[in-house]
Amino acid sequence: SGKKHPFPWFGLDIGGTLVKLIYFEPLSLSPDEEKEEKDSLKSIRKYLTSNIAYGSTGVRDTRLELKNVTFQGYTGNLHFIRFPSEEMDKFVTMAKEKQFATLIDLFHATGGGAFKFEQKFLTEIGINLNKLDELDCVIKGIHFVQHKCGLNGHFECFSISNPLSDGPIEKAPFDFRDPYPYMVANIGSGVSIMLVRSQEDYARVSGTSLGGGTFLGLCCLLTGCETYDEAIDLATKGDSTKVDKLVSDIYGEGGYAKFGLPGNVVASSFGKMNSEEDRKSATKEDLAKATLVTLTNNIGSLVFSCAQREGVERVVFAGNFLRINPISMRLLSYAMDFWSQGSQKALFLEHEGYFGAVGALLDNYY
Ligand code: ADP
Repeated sequence: SGKKHPFPWFGLDIGGTLVKLIYFEPLSLSPDEEKEEKDSLKSIRKYLTSNIAYGSTGVRDTRLELKNVTFQGYTGNLHFIRFPSEEMDKFVTMAKEKQFATLIDLFHATGGGAFKFEQKFLTEIGINLNKLDELDCVIKGIHFVQHKCGLNGHFECFSISNPLSDGPIEKAPFDFRDPYPYMVANIGSGVSIMLVRSQEDYARVSGTSLGGGTFLGLCCLLTGCETYDEAIDLATKGDSTKVDKLVSDIYGEGGYAKFGLPGNVVASSFGKMNSEEDRKSATKEDLAKATLVTLTNNIGSLVFSCAQREGVERVVFAGNFLRINPISMRLLSYAMDFWSQGSQKALFLEHEGYFGAVGALLDNYY
């Protein structure tokens, strides 16, 4: 609309698993603006910027904070906050207590929850939701962070230069100035795959319900773990070849040479688990790792075929499935490179699952 909305500026993405909240903390208020700043606004700013945890499950990702971002004539810091979608009721209570409605009458929100919670926002807080499409927001968010911010002088976008080594991942910066055409694979609870032809032109070309939510759900069922962090921790210590049947388990060490399938490729995910003996020797760490590898490989192979069909060389992976998850990042990097014989590149973004919320924030001044 070209018109600035009153502070506070938020972008909210209410997903199937996590709520992502971006808060723009203005640093360059004029003396007049500071004088006029209402107590309720001050209290919101203080609450958000002086804490790194909110309640028992809300987290501010301080590592991702973007400093001195300018837009619409203001300089400020972008704060990245997340909490489980199950806790939306507590967020609503907080917004009520902090009197959000005395400051703004509109909250810019995306994700399925923008629809699900619209009525609740209106009746309990007295705020309307400006409902925005989640994929529009993700694409806008990616472009905004790439072009306007960068990670405080670091590169937002990177590829992995040592996908096969065991040490920490090495990030090779990727220059995103002219990335078109490229694909985005957004791996949240489910997966959406978009083809981006230009800043204004994109289409959702594929997707799958076998996503991050599937990994977490199956992992909880199979190992008894209760959180994503725990699931990743288990997977890090596990060996998926105790669970999966490899080409070499079927063909012997030589693999399936005629069709170029080396012995270490998975022939059948979880294929060993029909054997009682193998079941006995598989630990929960092994099961967690196999679940992670299964979901990652399935997403990787879908993304690879989409990219091949569309003739695209660059695929950007986003979504919180990649949070604290170098195992999947390595696998995706390696798989894209292997299956495309080096012609496709897997790219990653530091702000992983936050782009939808950034896209929603942009509506405060567009
Ligand atoms: P959505 O918008 O569908 O909630 P996200 O991009 O936020 O999607 O990704 C959600 C997925 O990220 C989960 O399914 C899980 O695999 C992973 N994840 C990463 N961190 C967490 C966390 N703290 N809690 C739950 N899931 C997490």
